Amino acid sequence: MTACTSQYTWFEVPRNDPPKRVAIQRTHDFREIYSLYDEATVREQASRCIQCGMPFCRVGCPLENRIPEWIRLAAEGEFLQAAAVSGLTSNMPEICSRLCPQERLCEGMCTLNTRTDPVPIGAIERFINEYAFAHGAVEAFPVMPNGLKVGVVGSGPAGLTCADELAKLGYAVTVFESLPVPGGLLVHGIPSFKIEKTVVERRVALLERRGIVFQTNVTVGRDLSLGELLATFDALFLGMGAQRGKRLGAPGEDLEGVYQALPFLVQKNVGCVTNLPPI
Ligand SMILES: Cc1cc2nc3c(=O)[nH]c(=O)nc-3n(C[C@H](O)[C@H](O)[C@H](O)COP(=O)(O)OP(=O)(O)OC[C@H]3O[C@@H](n4cnc5c(N)ncnc54)[C@H](O)[C@@H]3O)c2cc1C
Ligand code: SF4
Repeated sequence: MTACTSQYTWFEVPRNDPPKRVAIQRTHDFREIYSLYDEATVREQASRCIQCGMPFCRVGCPLENRIPEWIRLAAEGEFLQAAAVSGLTSNMPEICSRLCPQERLCEGMCTLNTRTDPVPIGAIERFINEYAFAHGAVEAFPVMPNGLKVGVVGSGPAGLTCADELAKLGYAVTVFESLPVPGGLLVHGIPSFKIEKTVVERRVALLERRGIVFQTNVTVGRDLSLGELLATFDALFLGMGAQRGKRLGAPGEDLEGVYQALPFLVQKNVGCVTNLPPI
């Protein structure tokens, strides 16, 4: 397939963000706000990219994602190839595309900002990766074991990424997580209207198929000591995140009925027990 429009598409076609789900639906659930593009729109939006010789979008991306390459493939309608390229540098592109502050990163650096609105990089990334999942094109397999074992403490994005990279190299990885559900703040902090729990569950299931073992309801330091882990594993990765909320320092913050945001979010998101009574 060829790209659907001319090299001046950025001038002829305005940026078009994915449609919001209709308000009446959104008042009845807490699911993601934005729908996906349709195929024609994603190709048109991807065709706005001018394929810069010096792609500043990549400079703005902490992962240096190969953005112009997969945008060109998306413009050509080669969505599966585009998703494959996006997965070369990102361990969870379907998650980053929903959560990254693109306006400050890749899209904030897009050359088109000097004349018009940037390419909707995040929305295109989300489309191609959802397309790949929907077409069964995202899979993970165990590789030949290298004989070494690593324990990962914490199953947030840091722990998941570390586990994924090590498993690809043949390490036997076990992830220990305090809470009943893996995913860290992706699941128990960030509300579903931004990322639905099933998106993270799908990624965790993929990591399990790569051979990674998840042990939930295990708090390292209480149920298992670091010494025990060091005796069992060749190496440990500590990815426990920042579990304590920042205090406001305002008068009255210790009054009954005043709660920190994080335990509130955890209770509301996954309903699991925190060290607070139900809020
Ligand atoms: C409401 C909200 C919205 C956010 N929105 C965005 C966004 O849009 N974009 C963005 O980029 N970021 C966002 N963030 C921030 C993002 O979620 C965090 O930066 C990210 O999750 C940090 O990843 P992490 O792996 O370091 O830690 P976490 O995600 O916190 O994961 C750490 C995990 O370690 C576990 N753990 C801790 N101690 C132990 C122990 N002793 N034993 C076993 N397990 C343990 C915890 O239970 C937790 O599951 C948001 C955060 C919140 C709260
Ligand atoms: S900076 Fe913008 S226009 Fe240039 S390659 Fe990246 S996405 Fe395309």
